[in-house]
Amino acid sequence: MIRVAIDGPAGVGKSSTSKALARHFGFAYLDTGAMYRACAWWCLHQGIDLDGDQVDEQQITEAVAEFFTGDHFDIGVDPDHPSITADGEDISEAIRSSEVSSHVSKVSNVIPVRHVLIAAQRAYIARESAADSFSLGRGIVAEGRDITTVVAPDAEVRVLLTAREEVRQAGRTGQA
Ligand code: C5P
Repeated sequence: MIRVAIDGPAGVGKSSTSKALARHFGFAYLDTGAMYRACAWWCLHQGIDLDGDQVDEQQITEAVAEFFTGDHFDIGVDPDHPSITADGEDISEAIRSSEVSSHVSKVSNVIPVRHVLIAAQRAYIARESAADSFSLGRGIVAEGRDITTVVAPDAEVRVLLTAREEVRQAGRTGQA
């Protein structure tokens, strides 16, 4: 199977490029940013305070561990329908809310949280080598800011997307 890892800063079109590529080749698609967003959503949903300068890292780590090991989290890898659910509830729109966007770094900065997510991302990537996986063993396009360096440094294809500053700004505000 072919693993394609796509990295790059916000607003360069990582998601649209990754989805288009996956669609074209019949590959699965994994949005690692959506996984961090889902964790932030889950923590907020559990009533964890993410507002202060000093967040409770242990509480966040325990909540995220439960989210994954307790079978609450699920992500669909079809590039045409990239779904994300918590206890069966579709949270794909909720994770794009300004509340989640403004709190996600509080969760993604917690090192044990990163370890849980990196392990989960590697498992989703490895899964696609199976003949009964979404891609039927063809491969996967995974995107995110540490995907080419940390999660899948040995990917067959590693891409760092860049864009001119004015394009990135338009992308960030949803005008691209
Ligand atoms: O790419 P997106 O904006 O959806 O990512 C949301 C947040 O998740 C980022 O701002 C970052 O805090 C975190 N993230 C990360 N590592 C990744 C992908 C996302 O820390 N591979």
